[in-house]
Amino acid sequence: MRALVLDYSTKRLEVRDVAAPAPPAAGQVLLRVAETGVCGTDRELARFRFGYPPPDADYLVLGHEALAQVVETGSGVTGVAAGDWVVPTVRRACSPPCRLCARGRRDLCVSGNCRERGIFGAHGYFAPYAVDEAADLAPVPASLAEVAVLLEPLSVAEKAVRTALRLHPAEPGSAVVFGAGAVGLLAALVLQLRGLEVSVCSLEAEDHPRAGLVRRAGMAYRALPATPSRADLVIEAAGAPQAALAAVHALHPLGVCVILGAMQMPAGLDLSELITGNRAIAGSVNAAPEDFSSGVRDLARIPRTVLAGMMRRVRFEDAPGSILGPPGAAVKLVHAADGW
Ligand SMILES: [Zn+2]
Ligand SMILES: [Zn+2]
Repeated sequence: MRALVLDYSTKRLEVRDVAAPAPPAAGQVLLRVAETGVCGTDRELARFRFGYPPPDADYLVLGHEALAQVVETGSGVTGVAAGDWVVPTVRRACSPPCRLCARGRRDLCVSGNCRERGIFGAHGYFAPYAVDEAADLAPVPASLAEVAVLLEPLSVAEKAVRTALRLHPAEPGSAVVFGAGAVGLLAALVLQLRGLEVSVCSLEAEDHPRAGLVRRAGMAYRALPATPSRADLVIEAAGAPQAALAAVHALHPLGVCVILGAMQMPAGLDLSELITGNRAIAGSVNAAPEDFSSGVRDLARIPRTVLAGMMRRVRFEDAPGSILGPPGAAVKLVHAADGW
């Protein structure tokens, strides 16, 4: 079968023939991939900044954001059946499993040896077929299939919002999200569903299509470097140290900031404000099973026009160019499996 792979010998991103997966064993499910989304992680992987292939291969099938349909189930599988729509979770337990992986909380893996499909040591979903353990799949109703490729990035946003709400000691009423990429926008939409007054700050100009999308969803948009108003909850999903500093400085007393993208904190962070204002900073990665479940519920509640407005569908043949080329205005590029 044809797949989009990163070749670690030649350091190239290419479409090539790879072996089709074996029939599903007990507890496993054979999937036909319908759509695969692209994000900044894929772009970084394609530049070989991080990621690695499975132990027995010198290549990695790319793709960790997928929507698929069950083709066939192995013995003992319950909960999903042929024809069902599913979104695979990304992380797979470390081996032997650490205490958190053993408990089903691979998003909290403490050994650092967990694998991630399409990223760290396990093939992804830029291929027509894949096999997964049934337990690693999030079922989605057919009525959401049109937008369900957004569930994986949404699950990351769900965990960040859940973390922020859990850590805030009072009743948060306002939120600011830094970054107007898919995770940032989805986090803003989830915060809005939770009843908060939300604004989004990002580098895109005030007349950029993403700013329009934010406003059509009923939220405020401010183009950086404008100073955002302070808020109770702040999510950093911009991936830049300056955004992390601005995010922390935007906290009201008791406020909680969740860092999703920035890898370094720049100089200038005033820790006395954290102490005297009982403010908190937390990091968050990946998502728990409950975040996929709440994501499915929220996908049904977020206006379909807003979700559709985030997505641009492109052909599988265009995948290498769409990953290596400039990101473009679309929030989420989605590759349809047609043509595989
Ligand atoms: Zn992603
Ligand atoms: Zn683990």
